[in-house]
Amino acid sequence: MSSQREVRVRFAPSPTGGLHLGGVRTALFNYLFAKQHGGDFILRVEDTDQTRFVPGAEEYINDCLDWCGILPDESPSKPAAFGPYRQSERKASYRRFAEELIESGYAYYAFDTAEELEEQRKVHPNFRYSHENRLNLRNSLSFNTEQTNSLLAAGTPHTIRIKIPTEQTVYFEDMIRGAVTFDTNLIDDKVLLKADGMPTYHLAVVVDDKAMEISHVFRGEEWLPSAPVHILLWEYLGWKEQMPNWAHLPLILKPDGKGKLSKRDGDRLGFPVYAMNWTDPKTGDLTKGFRETGFLPEAFVNMLATLGWNDGTEKELFTMAELIAAFSVERISKAGAKYDFEKAKWYNHEWMKATPNAELLPQVEAIFKQHELELPSQPYLNDILSLVKERMTFVEDFWQQASFFFVQPEELDLNAIKGKWNADKTAFFEELTAEFESLSQWNAEDLGAFFKEKVASSGMKIGELMMPFRIMLVGGKFGPDVFKIAELLGKKGVIDRVAYALGLLQ
Ligand code: GLU
Repeated sequence: MSSQREVRVRFAPSPTGGLHLGGVRTALFNYLFAKQHGGDFILRVEDTDQTRFVPGAEEYINDCLDWCGILPDESPSKPAAFGPYRQSERKASYRRFAEELIESGYAYYAFDTAEELEEQRKVHPNFRYSHENRLNLRNSLSFNTEQTNSLLAAGTPHTIRIKIPTEQTVYFEDMIRGAVTFDTNLIDDKVLLKADGMPTYHLAVVVDDKAMEISHVFRGEEWLPSAPVHILLWEYLGWKEQMPNWAHLPLILKPDGKGKLSKRDGDRLGFPVYAMNWTDPKTGDLTKGFRETGFLPEAFVNMLATLGWNDGTEKELFTMAELIAAFSVERISKAGAKYDFEKAKWYNHEWMKATPNAELLPQVEAIFKQHELELPSQPYLNDILSLVKERMTFVEDFWQQASFFFVQPEELDLNAIKGKWNADKTAFFEELTAEFESLSQWNAEDLGAFFKEKVASSGMKIGELMMPFRIMLVGGKFGPDVFKIAELLGKKGVIDRVAYALGLLQ
């Protein structure tokens, strides 16, 4: 491993369906590391398992990264000198390396059929193809050269397997975990090349990381057991000097900390796990994503960055540029990160407040279309958004918080005021609206002062009148400053609403 090398990292998803938030976090950490070191972030599509290939999944991955602002420097749609960036298009390159491994004695041909292996599994429930039994199975180690050659000459379907050594320890320094060791006796002889000529993930990942000059690999902890196989391959292919540095990222755990967070947990607990909506092309089932739940990409990225990483201070809100500057591998934790949807919502709420109205307005305007309502003027909408933004977690909350501005509520929460209603109060509001008519200034400050003065001279308490006033304007006991609401509703709006409420209170 040379220390002074250009940083080139890759995100290498298999296009098999929706993109789990853990996958996006892997992409993000790779990206942050690359950008911090002035390096390149590569998207490589690992599509060699044709049985798992799902149409549309690659475009979806591109769209997710795009939405998050995790933009590859090289990818299938942005090829550079290290292409192709889809493993299926690199097929021709793999067999050569598998054969080379056979020649050097690190791999062998295996002729066992799927049925034969199935039979073995029936007889030995813990069956693994390994040093323990390879000489009893049908391969070029148990056959003599003649037998092997004639099987090959007859075109007998075969795989190529790595010959894992016995009694050895594979050692490596993980950037997050420190020293990691594996006992080779416990590793099985993984298939490197399948009968269809396609490489397995193990061979392809090593060949491609070498060919693409990958300097650092950040990937999920679930790949840790595969690391010794990859390290042996780097060594056997004679590439040990160019091997990337490894970093296995902590798992993202279920909210209760018991096991890895899965899409099913999201379905069960009612929160998204995929970055964006995903429709399974086979079943037509739709799984809701963070984007469609109303998350801002900045909030989603910020939240992901904190799943297993912090900058060592209390700071929680980071822009992408701040993350690039602050990111450090040393501060990635080894322990799994519990997923907390409430915290994710908090991030969105914070980002909502920090996002300029102009960026949110198109989505707010879409809400009017949904409700088939005429669009208010932009300045008016802008003022209202400023007023209620603090109370919104998602853009769609705008409607709950602000619809009363645009549609006069017919049903008012009168139960909250009826019990203590009396003629004095009716008189107070009748006079109030009459006096409103003659007010020349119409702004929250003057209205507030005017209202309070009037309450003082009535001898009643402010709370007894302010809460009914709010309910008259808004319909319920919620919303921002009531005088600000009155200002934005306009004089006529306020007078009409008070009159309507008094009618109901008769
Ligand atoms: N194709 C693997 C995946 O789907 C990549 C694992 C790795 O980064 O080595 O996650």
